[in-house]
Amino acid sequence: MEHSGLTRNILIGMGLGIVLGSVVHAMGLSSDSFIRVFIVDGLFDVGGQVFINSLKLLVVPLVFVSLACGAGNLGSGSNMGRVGLKTIALYLFTTAAAISLALLTATLINPGEGVGGISDAVYVAREAPSLKQVIVNIFPSNPIQAMADGNMLQVIVFAILVGVAMSKCGDAGIRVKAVLEDWNDVIMRMVMLLMAVAPVGVFCILISLFAKSGFGAISDLIVYFMCVVGVLLLHFLFTYGLMLKFLAGLNPLAFYKRMSPVMAYAFSTSSSNATMPITLETVEHKLGVKNEVASFTVPLGATINMDGTAIMQGVATVFIAQAYGIDLAMSDYLMVILTATMASIGTAGVPGVGIIMLAMVLGQVGLPVDGIALIIGVDRLLDMMRTAVNVTGDATVSTIVAQSEGKFDRKIFDSAS
Ligand code: ASP
Repeated sequence: MEHSGLTRNILIGMGLGIVLGSVVHAMGLSSDSFIRVFIVDGLFDVGGQVFINSLKLLVVPLVFVSLACGAGNLGSGSNMGRVGLKTIALYLFTTAAAISLALLTATLINPGEGVGGISDAVYVAREAPSLKQVIVNIFPSNPIQAMADGNMLQVIVFAILVGVAMSKCGDAGIRVKAVLEDWNDVIMRMVMLLMAVAPVGVFCILISLFAKSGFGAISDLIVYFMCVVGVLLLHFLFTYGLMLKFLAGLNPLAFYKRMSPVMAYAFSTSSSNATMPITLETVEHKLGVKNEVASFTVPLGATINMDGTAIMQGVATVFIAQAYGIDLAMSDYLMVILTATMASIGTAGVPGVGIIMLAMVLGQVGLPVDGIALIIGVDRLLDMMRTAVNVTGDATVSTIVAQSEGKFDRKIFDSAS
């Protein structure tokens, strides 16, 4: 199907899923009624889960094959190193900017004022891994295990090693690369096949989700909710918009339009990881980033770059501090920026991970981790929105890095719709 037709259908699937799901929720059907058991929790839920599993199925093979080819094409280690440094620097910068914007806006709006702090619900935090452990864990001791566990940073390291070695071993390298390139084509074709059924997949996910939870407890937390949504929008429109305009010379609106199906997937799956095959396909074939750069920046971004998540954490930290009547000092704010930026590294882009990271951030500045119970009711919906921002951030950085390396094909960008 033509790209713009597909985008329209995905958006229709999304809208229908949200509306019909909310209607089912509002009807208050009992959980043993026919519509709930056989249609919403049965048929649609199965359809949605099969769709998400099929997306996830492609992630590891795609990252490995695509990145090994990309690293092989970039050739020398110094090119790889330069692209790596630029990418990581931009990811860290956008995350720090996102959380700073969130802290600033939240301290102006005061979402937590007047909220009763003490809640009976208890949230048990996980222990934050040490920096040493984070660094050691990036390097795999067993690549098969890394793939089986879906440990993306380890898969990335292994794929880069294979790619670099391939480019340095003459005929054998050329033969292996040809095979991997063929595999890359086959897996990309699988991504496209899956995209063709995306409108139905997205509809199934959203109708069963909204039928279960409706719009959650938004009315109780409306200021917090709107504050997070407002900062997500600001970051999306201005931070990315300005970066695209001034660092890549692109029209941000044209960029967002090409990215809209990816955002719809991210919204529906709440997972940057599961969306990654679609992000990669779009970044290469609709935005015009060459495989050498996209195959590295996109999987890395899906794993370490979570601007939307950082925004939720910034607003949530201020909200919880205010709800408990605790004053934060300037040093606490700096600590929040630092820990939220660091916490996003090495945490996979899967649903709900932002809340786990928030527990680490709160712990660092001595705020009660139980405060998470106050906001958890609206987190599912916010997760969907922030994941859409997370993947847009990955594509933005990927495009800018490609442009600066001469690996951006403007013709592809201009001819896509
Ligand atoms: N769901 C988000 C993602 O996959 C992470 C989060 O904020 O929970 O990017």
